[in-house]
Amino acid sequence: MMSRRFKLGTFFGIALFIHWSFFLMPALVAYSEWSNGGRWIDVLLTLGFVVLLFACVILHEYGHVLAARAFGVGTRDITMLPIGGVARLERMPEEPWQELIVAVAGPAVNVLIAATLGIGIVAFYGFNLDADGESNMFAHRLFAVNIALIVFNMIPAFPMDGGRVFRSVASMFTNHRRATWLAMRLGQVIAIALFALGISNLSNLPFLPFIAAFIFWVGMMEYRQVDIASQVKDLRVRDAMLRQFCVAPIDSSIADFAERAADQLQRTFPVVEHGLYRGVLQLEQIATAMQTANGQQQTVGEIARWDSITVDEDAPLEEVLVGMPRDATQIPVLDTTNKVVGLLDTDSCLRRVALRSGRSHNPAAPASIDYYSPPGDER
Ligand SMILES: [Zn+2]
Repeated sequence: MMSRRFKLGTFFGIALFIHWSFFLMPALVAYSEWSNGGRWIDVLLTLGFVVLLFACVILHEYGHVLAARAFGVGTRDITMLPIGGVARLERMPEEPWQELIVAVAGPAVNVLIAATLGIGIVAFYGFNLDADGESNMFAHRLFAVNIALIVFNMIPAFPMDGGRVFRSVASMFTNHRRATWLAMRLGQVIAIALFALGISNLSNLPFLPFIAAFIFWVGMMEYRQVDIASQVKDLRVRDAMLRQFCVAPIDSSIADFAERAADQLQRTFPVVEHGLYRGVLQLEQIATAMQTANGQQQTVGEIARWDSITVDEDAPLEEVLVGMPRDATQIPVLDTTNKVVGLLDTDSCLRRVALRSGRSHNPAAPASIDYYSPPGDER
């Protein structure tokens, strides 16, 4: 989702990007204005309005990231999508009241903008809302849009700001994981309602179904991340790895090794040379090679993959599980001398942790928590 974006600049030390799909929105707006018989000046004014609207959203995002910075939390970047801005904070502040402030800081910027516009409008035009000058319309519309941004963002649909407020308040009464679960479920119920509303009123609310899907999906992803984190807190890769596994000697022939591999549940075999890690061999590669006489005579080293992922036995388990690509399910674990000391099986590693600690690690949660690729969307 974060690919194909353009850098707009760096402000307050944080890079600001625009996603390519962002340009669909002004194009759509300009087109609908044009096809409705709008004059070119109207098209330009509408585009100008869209630019100002998104300036308000950008300022909103900087409200979040500057509040986070006050609590010592950095931000990777901000990306503007057609459905709004996404600021990627490095983490969430630990304290619920800090998260509350970070969540509120964004809408607070729009409150400031709306208040300034409101005062300006009243100062120039009084309370006459029917004034029809073009600049007047502009200020009124921008005021209305900021109010809409405040109201919409404060809907308690996690991971939107209102949902984060909900979670931080819930965190004061229960643990972080449970609070996140409650916020996610409430967010999903609201997302389904918003989706239905958008679908039934597509011409007026064309972006609502996308926003609803975004809320549903990203909320779930973020909950998973919190769930994994709560289960593997303070654990290292070595606490969860398989310690008994089979390695493939680099000069062994495929035919010889296939016989051994057939007896193993393993799907990934670390390839070793003089006891040191060199690459991996997948079960499918062996099966493919065994189909031909030529393939059977090849050596392990000839068909092994050299570019695969490995992890350090001392690496924090949470970092590994969250940052892992989807297709990596068994990963060689190495020590500092490049010796293979284990195999991390991402499907079952949390259950292994529970077995070793002699108690069910987190009885409230299903043990089959799988890895996921980082959505990169959460703030
Ligand atoms: Zn926000």
